[in-house]
Amino acid sequence: MRKKIVAGNWKMNLTFEEGQQLTSEIVQMYKDEAIQDVTVVLNPPYPHLYAVNKLVGDLVGIAVGAQNCSDKEGGAYTGEVSAKILASFGVSYVILGHSERREYFKEDHALLATKVNQALSHGLTPIFCCGESLEIREAGTQEETVKAQLTASLFHLSPEEFAKVVIAYEPIWAIGTGKTASADQAQEMHAALRAHLASKYGADLAAQTSLLYGGSANPGNAKELFGKPDVDGGLIGGASLKSRDFIEIIKSF
Ligand code: PEP
Repeated sequence: MRKKIVAGNWKMNLTFEEGQQLTSEIVQMYKDEAIQDVTVVLNPPYPHLYAVNKLVGDLVGIAVGAQNCSDKEGGAYTGEVSAKILASFGVSYVILGHSERREYFKEDHALLATKVNQALSHGLTPIFCCGESLEIREAGTQEETVKAQLTASLFHLSPEEFAKVVIAYEPIWAIGTGKTASADQAQEMHAALRAHLASKYGADLAAQTSLLYGGSANPGNAKELFGKPDVDGGLIGGASLKSRDFIEIIKSF
């Protein structure tokens, strides 16, 4: 059975103290509400990671992830953070290929393939993001576009390596806009992506791959989205900054 995952992407939000507060609330609610069978991943900005990981402690079910990592192993790359450093203090996931990184930092397919390699070689699970712009959706070429993103940055992996990857489908027109893909639109894309994975890695491995939906998911729409057969969870931006909303989303399974 593939994992159900809800990951919170805090982006460049929250002071250190606010991050500690949010983490403590999430940990407490997670325990109080006896959440089970859902892996929760908190992805704060880099400076929070160590402390967030300490607050989570050995609570099974909550993991900590970074929002990015370097494509380099280490060395003279001022301002960068390597997968090796992240792994060395207990970070276990890393978001790669987020549309904001692709757009604002010009991260391309080849660079992302290298970052995926770095993550995997240090035992981090990549949450690999893909998704189409509004123009592409309106032109009706979203499936080809998103499949091409997966092919270009992931299909060099061996089946053993690919088995460790989580994929997040995030239509760019739905990120931070309050506009969500309908549950049917999400299902249609997820099914197409799973079929694409099956064409490369076989039906069994494709069936084991967790495919998350991202784009204005909230407590009001999560149940319908997560009810779809190929939607295995969510990558949550804005709503992950409010503990109650985030917990309600997790409980939507
Ligand atoms: C995201 O950026 O990963 C995201 C899904 O953001 P939001 O939920 O705010 O649309």
